[in-house]
Amino acid sequence: MNDILPPDSARWEWLEEKVRALMDRYAYRNLRTPIVEPTALFVRGLGEVTDIVEKEMYSFEDRLNGEQLTLRPESTAGVVRAVVEHSMLYDGGKRLYYMGPMFRHERPQRGRYRQFHQIGAEALGFPGAEIDAEIILLADALWKELGLTDVRLELNSLGQPEERKAHRAALIAYLERHVDQLDEEAKRRLHSNPLRILDTKNPAMQALVEAAPRLIDFLGEKSLAHFNAVKAILDANGVAWKVNPRLVRGMDYYNLTVFEFVTDRLGSQGTICGGGRYDYLIEQIGGKPAPAVGWALGVERVLELLKEQGMATAVPVPLAYAVVPDAGVLPVAMALLQKLRALGVSVQMHSPTGAGEGMGSMKSQFKKADASGARYALVFGADELARGNVLVKSLRDGSGQQAEHALQNVAEWAAHLQSDR
Ligand code: ATP
Ligand code: MG
Repeated sequence: MNDILPPDSARWEWLEEKVRALMDRYAYRNLRTPIVEPTALFVRGLGEVTDIVEKEMYSFEDRLNGEQLTLRPESTAGVVRAVVEHSMLYDGGKRLYYMGPMFRHERPQRGRYRQFHQIGAEALGFPGAEIDAEIILLADALWKELGLTDVRLELNSLGQPEERKAHRAALIAYLERHVDQLDEEAKRRLHSNPLRILDTKNPAMQALVEAAPRLIDFLGEKSLAHFNAVKAILDANGVAWKVNPRLVRGMDYYNLTVFEFVTDRLGSQGTICGGGRYDYLIEQIGGKPAPAVGWALGVERVLELLKEQGMATAVPVPLAYAVVPDAGVLPVAMALLQKLRALGVSVQMHSPTGAGEGMGSMKSQFKKADASGARYALVFGADELARGNVLVKSLRDGSGQQAEHALQNVAEWAAHLQSDR
């Protein structure tokens, strides 16, 4: 679990701002659900035989009433719970997005943390392939907006429960014939969740998995038509995709379209975003049956990829730094700073650190002003103040330009400072 400190936190805010603006353009609305949910929600929602439910959840008992609770390991279940609880689909579909921390007790490594952050988009109540495409296009647009390259889209279709059943039988029969090649985890999952065996990261099992019966070969006409409709819209948008028949995703709740955006630049933790259709989850969680599709991206991995690509994001600096030679003028100075800030100017005030007396020498204050990255120093000298002025000194262009400005008409010169960037 990481602390996110300035100036790095500015990159997070930059990303969040981009996401908000983009979600607005697609008419997806922000939803905020609690970080703690009843454990049963995740067991029921994600499936009992999943990595998350089997070994990754931070669960605890509420000491006051004995309730079993869990720090959310993902947000789709919580979103669905909220949608059901507030009957949000009574007047049609909803397009939603969220951002926030998730918790999974995993082995920490690069790109994998125990508190990590996801941004997710969910479209609930819409059955059509165009929504699968829309939500994929939304993610694709985000990569473009962020300047991310080297991200590729992998697609698969998990079909419908009946089709999965037929495939499952064929898969189990195949795996049973090769049981000597299965690792312990695969053996355990052979009958409970064989599909997940296809998702194994064990190199020794890759050949076996490669030759296993493919779910896509068990899809009926309707499922294939849905899949093809998604692809056609992606094609029309120039979004490249590749079918990965072994893409199954970690949660049980998916059907039809599933997808991941992956990169080769982050080592083995290369999936930056994953999602798919989950038409049966709403009913599973106790709502009236309704279709849905969504994705979640890993914020840490996206930021890491941006860094990997050498993308610099601007470190925030104040426009001005207030130099206050004498503590006696603080009331006048701070009154002016407050006005400047109300006008939208970002100003950092000098305030001495440590136990010394007074405000500190002019030299040390200017040193601080320089270090702050500010473009201007506002000098509240006694002489200038006596004339009803403050001295504005340029710090960045090497000119040393300076001019006095009247405290009275601050709005005028503040606008000038800002436009002069
Ligand atoms: P993985 O196969 O890497 O474990 P997952 O299938 O468990 O991924 P999802 O539950 O689909 O991942 O979560 C969506 C995204 O959230 C992932 O693609 C990844 O970018 C990010 N993510 C998942 N787990 C972590 C983690 N422990 N630390 C950081 N990011 C994570
Ligand atoms: Mg995982």
